Amino acid sequence: MNLSSAIQKKIFHIVSFSAQKIKQDSYVVGGYVRDFLLGKIKSKDVDILTIGEGIKLAQEVSKNMKPHPKIKIFRRFGTAMLKCENQKIEFVGSRKESYHFYSRKPFIRLGSLQDDQNRRDFTINALAISLNRDNYGELIDPFGGLSDLKKKILRTPLNSDITYSDDPLRMMRAIRFATQLQFTIEEYSFKSIQKNKNRINIVSTERIIEEFNKILLSEKPSIGLLLLYKSGLLSIILPELTLLKGIEKKNGCKHKDNFYHTLQVVDNISQVKTNSLWLRWAALLHDIGKAYTKNFTKIGWSFHAHEFVGSKMVPNIFQRLKLPKGGPMKYVKKMIQYSYKPIALIGNQISDSAIRRLLFDLGKDLEDLMKLCIADITTNNIEKRKQYQKNIYILMERIQKLEEKDRIQNWKSPISGNDIMKTFQIDPCKEIGIIKNFIKDSILEGKISNDFHSAYLFMLKKGEELGLKKK
Ligand code: ATP
Ligand code: MG
Repeated sequence: MNLSSAIQKKIFHIVSFSAQKIKQDSYVVGGYVRDFLLGKIKSKDVDILTIGEGIKLAQEVSKNMKPHPKIKIFRRFGTAMLKCENQKIEFVGSRKESYHFYSRKPFIRLGSLQDDQNRRDFTINALAISLNRDNYGELIDPFGGLSDLKKKILRTPLNSDITYSDDPLRMMRAIRFATQLQFTIEEYSFKSIQKNKNRINIVSTERIIEEFNKILLSEKPSIGLLLLYKSGLLSIILPELTLLKGIEKKNGCKHKDNFYHTLQVVDNISQVKTNSLWLRWAALLHDIGKAYTKNFTKIGWSFHAHEFVGSKMVPNIFQRLKLPKGGPMKYVKKMIQYSYKPIALIGNQISDSAIRRLLFDLGKDLEDLMKLCIADITTNNIEKRKQYQKNIYILMERIQKLEEKDRIQNWKSPISGNDIMKTFQIDPCKEIGIIKNFIKDSILEGKISNDFHSAYLFMLKKGEELGLKKK
């Protein structure tokens, strides 16, 4: 087998040479082999398996490279990592594993190549390419991984009930790979996931979310979200979403299934903006308030103030899932809170000041909010869809024109606190805040233009009202 790019070829030769020197067989394994066979390799991390000590091989490889790369050693795991021309290479010794029921951390012993392949999660991840002199480049495929790659199937090498129960993170990994590669999880394997879903509770939240985020960041996240739902895992990880499932009908009037709608919105946003994890989270959670605000009224189904209720749920969800508390949480909360606002601003009767408020409140996040609004249009009625999209584009144009004129998005008050203190010869006090707010509101409401001169006159006016005199 021809092992990829020039730099990778060079690395494989050095590893092969070093491994012979210390008399340890070595193999390329894991994701590198899988993606290489799929024709997807760019500059992917390389995993090297050696029958013996991983750290020892890493040290020998470093010795044989010029300049000698630094080795990062993880003694606790018996692994080592080094970088060669920006290519990460990880070394691990072959293992045989046995598991304890209460933990996904196995008891590890030195094992053969076969033992090591047995402990891998999927047949397509259990492929190895030999770096040994007598069969260099040969693919070692004990479980039919190559054929599964061609058939686009995810299958565990050994009994799937045991594989998933031993390390339940593999259930998340199965769904993650199914989403990223657009592969099918073999039927028996999927049934095992359904059976073992509660075992996910022994996996740390951080590891679950790491896989979940990879699902969200893939090209078509709905594949994974649907599998998470069907496996029963989603109601354990994010029950707020599964609560959106279902359609209710009363007096011949029904609402849409908000779960499927959400999946569609996440897919839509993923097509528009690649790599924006938090915008995808916002899309995922944008309707969670609907489960708690659903009401049947005279005019049909309503979900009054669901954006407000939904945005209030965000901090708890972020805390429970150990997602970052700062900026990302605030961003997602804000996106949800404002998710309906642009729709409310459609139409000629809407004043410029309402649009200035939106520009002021959202700042640079307004572009994302508008993208979310367009992604939120999921009606199958083509006429309606076109009309909704057109309305948003008209609004966007109006926003852009107003922003060009008034520059509200990165707004900074033309009058500073210092200006106010100097003008009235006062020390810091609450009047300064009152005057600043008055100026801000006057600009947003369009009473004065956004410049120093107009703001200065309004400062004097408000100051006088508050009993202050220009000195
Ligand atoms: P990628 O890095 O593209 O996400 P990968 O297959 O390289 O995919 P890693 O998490 O880097 O995934 O793991 C490397 C290899 O280690 C896998 O291909 C698999 O053989 C094995 N592996 C990783 N995690 C597990 C696990 N929980 N159970 C069994 N084998 C695993
Ligand atoms: Mg990897």
